Amino acid sequence: MPAERVGVVGAGVMGSEIAQAVASSGLAVTLVDVDPAALERGVAHVRAIGERRVARGRMSPQEAEAIAGRVTPVTEMAGLASCDIVIEAVPEVMDLKRKVWRGIETAAAPGALLATNTSGLSITELGRETSRPGRMIGLHFFNPASVMRLVEVIRGEDTTDATLAEGLALVEQLGKTGVRVKECPGFLVNRVLVRALAEAFRHAHDIAAEWTPAMMAAADAATVAAGPAPMGPFTLADLVGLDTLAHIRDDLHAAYGDRFADGALLAPLVAAGRLGQKTGGGFYTGERPDAEADDAGREVAERYYMGALHETCLCVEEGVATEGDADIAMVLGTGWEAGPVAWARAQGAGAAARMEALAGQAPRFAVPPLLRALATGSAA
Ligand code: NAD
Repeated sequence: MPAERVGVVGAGVMGSEIAQAVASSGLAVTLVDVDPAALERGVAHVRAIGERRVARGRMSPQEAEAIAGRVTPVTEMAGLASCDIVIEAVPEVMDLKRKVWRGIETAAAPGALLATNTSGLSITELGRETSRPGRMIGLHFFNPASVMRLVEVIRGEDTTDATLAEGLALVEQLGKTGVRVKECPGFLVNRVLVRALAEAFRHAHDIAAEWTPAMMAAADAATVAAGPAPMGPFTLADLVGLDTLAHIRDDLHAAYGDRFADGALLAPLVAAGRLGQKTGGGFYTGERPDAEADDAGREVAERYYMGALHETCLCVEEGVATEGDADIAMVLGTGWEAGPVAWARAQGAGAAARMEALAGQAPRFAVPPLLRALATGSAA
């Protein structure tokens, strides 16, 4: 049966965006936050999205009002009792999430689907905090969730087939695209993207200890020219936020080791509080200079793409995602024009040869069997 009422716990950046996405697909939302001011901001955010869409002629005032009217803000978990699904979006702190899940478990209806929007914490562990680990799933929305179509639907160790199917059905009900992901550190998109960024920055640091804005712009231009990414690594990192990136990279480095070492370009900027666009400067300060690709930039771009492709192949080989879902995720989650697998397949033997050349310089690029199979057309 399709869901009718969804509980969203946490009314911050993601919770309010998820509430908007859910309400705009016609479902009722119970939005829970311990902080009444956060709840007020969350509901105001839902209204503000509606007002913007009305101003742009994309929605009628009545529609915007109806969407906001479907969101009921409450400060008590008891409000979750009537929800078919609960999506948790409280801060990314394991102890806090554990505590919140114990509270949700007490309040939620026995049959409710339990979902967490964690970016990287263990869904399996969170599920085991409740008495119904089979009902727990990851629904990893991308920011801003009111706009972004991709949702990683993450299966933990205990997640049942029925739970997975319900998670995918909800995503479809929201008009979004779900990709199935088997739980692993970083899930799929962050794992692939952060590997690509780490490889790019590591190589950049090998080339030069200091990178000027002109050098970075040349590498960004080379990246856009050489493949399907919409922007280069330095621009992307500034957009994501260097602290967020460093945090995810640290976790993935701890989980996977040397593949996620990133040289030493990022850390000093984070230490200096230069966190990217949100602080008015990160790798770049002020305008990004116009630049054409140069040789150093092309080397950085090569590491970026081969890093992404290598990690994608590992994910597919480990059963984290199918080739098709990996491609969809990179296209919808990061704006690539084509996914890594399709991009590699289009090159025939070329991609494996490029990987082989890098493996000669750095053994971590050892050509994955999947990539060899893609080159010969024997992979599905
Ligand atoms: P946020 O800090 O903006 O919002 C968290 C909200 O949770 C706050 O309003 C806070 O008052 C509320 N909260 C704290 N303790 C609570 C409790 N005990 N009960 C109910 N509410 C409580 O955080 P965010 O950026 O929205 O992130 C939320 C989750 O989404 C995290 O797990 C994060 O990793 C994940 N995520 C974030 C992004 C992003 O771009 N911000 C993207 C994808 C996933």
